[in-house]
Amino acid sequence: MSPEQDQPAAPLDWLQARLQELHTDNRMRQLRIRESPHVGGMIQMDGQQMVDFGSNDYLGIAADPRLVEAVRRAVSEHGWGSGASPLVSGHGVLHEKLERELATFEGTEACVLFPSGFAANLAAITSVCGPGDLILSDRLNHASIIDGCRLSRATVRVYGHCDAADLQQQLRDRNSFGRALIVTDSLFSMDGDLAPLEKLADIRQRFGCMLMVDEAHATGVLGATGRGWAEAAGVEAAIDIRVGTLSKALGSVGGFVSGSRQLTEWIRNRGRSYIYSTAMPGAAAAAGLAALQIVRDEPARRNRLMEHVESLGLLLTEPGPVPATARASAFLVPNSPATQIVIVMAGAGQRALKWSSALREQGLFVPAIRPPTVPVDQSRLRISISSAHTPEQIRRLADAIQKLFAEESGPDETC
Ligand SMILES: *Cc1c(COP(=O)(O)O)cnc(C)c1O
Repeated sequence: MSPEQDQPAAPLDWLQARLQELHTDNRMRQLRIRESPHVGGMIQMDGQQMVDFGSNDYLGIAADPRLVEAVRRAVSEHGWGSGASPLVSGHGVLHEKLERELATFEGTEACVLFPSGFAANLAAITSVCGPGDLILSDRLNHASIIDGCRLSRATVRVYGHCDAADLQQQLRDRNSFGRALIVTDSLFSMDGDLAPLEKLADIRQRFGCMLMVDEAHATGVLGATGRGWAEAAGVEAAIDIRVGTLSKALGSVGGFVSGSRQLTEWIRNRGRSYIYSTAMPGAAAAAGLAALQIVRDEPARRNRLMEHVESLGLLLTEPGPVPATARASAFLVPNSPATQIVIVMAGAGQRALKWSSALREQGLFVPAIRPPTVPVDQSRLRISISSAHTPEQIRRLADAIQKLFAEESGPDETC
């Protein structure tokens, strides 16, 4: 019997049932359309003007006129497309300048630039580890780290989140492997907490491991000069491989790996996401340069951001006018030190969505984070604070969240 006679299902028919599953489980992701730049802590999406607590533009740089002007100038001088991968002919003078300035900023010998932080992690991990090696990866590491680990074909062991004791335990047979790599986010994007870098540095030393830290959410935000959590924690000398991104606090696009000259040379020769991908446009590198300049020249942005963090924390936990204030701390995830990523735990995906849409009705954009980004039953609101916010906007958010909690603990609530 020929396949034609069976009227077989079209090859992609299975998608309908799987998409329906996502709907049923409240996991369907909806693409929203942003109609405004990120300016003044505000955003317009799907026709609605809202205070923006859902971007990674932590320093309010993404729409800065200086970046816009740098891009304008770069495009008129260098055109748009880079035309090739870096090793062929895509690496222009602006890329070169940005790599040098990033290395200077990071206080490392050298730096290698990627079109994204995702690509930077893939290249870094797969360049330094392969079959026969061992990678120790924090359970809550970013997806790009997880994928880099998988692609490396090394043995991967996932240790408990920020659990140095578990990490050490999992290194007990370290000597049956070749190289060993400990890899971690510095500031965890979905939890807002910080890796125990001092302990990891100690374990690196004792077990002869390489230590790689991804500062994506901390670059430009933490540390006296904005280099990240390793700077703030005073452990930079123990970090062998540092990853950062230009796409978050720097308001631009692109990722980078910084470290020794030998490390970056090796990555340029081994990192497939570097070798086989077109270099970012030179104008994007120009934006990165302008952003880096702002980070260096305007520490007041970091300070203002941290003031907002502190005041939101106080507003959400201190006794306030709403009677059910105590409930706030029941949902609020306490991080010490607190960071610009503030988490309100909802549990069920449906509740996170309900909260998010209630806030949206009040003109506050706070995204609900659901599986698979977070474990089942750990859906949450993720508040991203920016130095572009005003104290008034922070207060509005705190009041609205307090009201949500008050409703949650209404008269028919039993717990
Ligand atoms: C966002 C992020 C990345 C990816 O960076 P992009 O530049 O957005 O590709 C990598 N690692 C971590 C920890 C991140 O949060």
